[in-house]
Amino acid sequence: MIEVYQQENCDRYASTAKALEKELMLKTVSAGSFSVPSNAFNPLRHQHDAMAIIDHVAALNPVSKNLKIGIVQVDIYSQGMNFIFGLADPLSHTALVSTYRLSGENIHKRICKEVVHEVGHLLGLSHCSDTSCVMCFSNTVEDTDRKEQTLCSECRRKLEG
Ligand SMILES: [Zn+2]
Ligand SMILES: [Zn+2]
Repeated sequence: MIEVYQQENCDRYASTAKALEKELMLKTVSAGSFSVPSNAFNPLRHQHDAMAIIDHVAALNPVSKNLKIGIVQVDIYSQGMNFIFGLADPLSHTALVSTYRLSGENIHKRICKEVVHEVGHLLGLSHCSDTSCVMCFSNTVEDTDRKEQTLCSECRRKLEG
């Protein structure tokens, strides 16, 4: 089971839930909306610290043992990266995806791929060298467009093994 939290005014639940159920065989629940915490904003970068938002999402329902994912519209970064599409924190079982840099005509597909990718990390999968596998690392939206929403046979074997 995974709890899907969205930044207010985000409406990505239906498509991402379908992708998670189809690709990772996870039951999903729409767990409500949240405001991005102000402490996550870095005024020097004009971006939000992904880990600070993950901590916030993880704390929304602290007793829950379910996986959690947050979907936000703000630009996010992590240490050493100019920007990221998403991040996963296995310790808190919580992932985050930003739609900010995924815009364009493929935005729905891109969001689904990045959501499956980050939740794949929560389930223990690492990056995959197969450029069509959803677990391949995306540096650009072109990378995201090139990969499929599905796991390659090797990653699927690891997940089911
Ligand atoms: Zn990754
Ligand atoms: Zn793979």
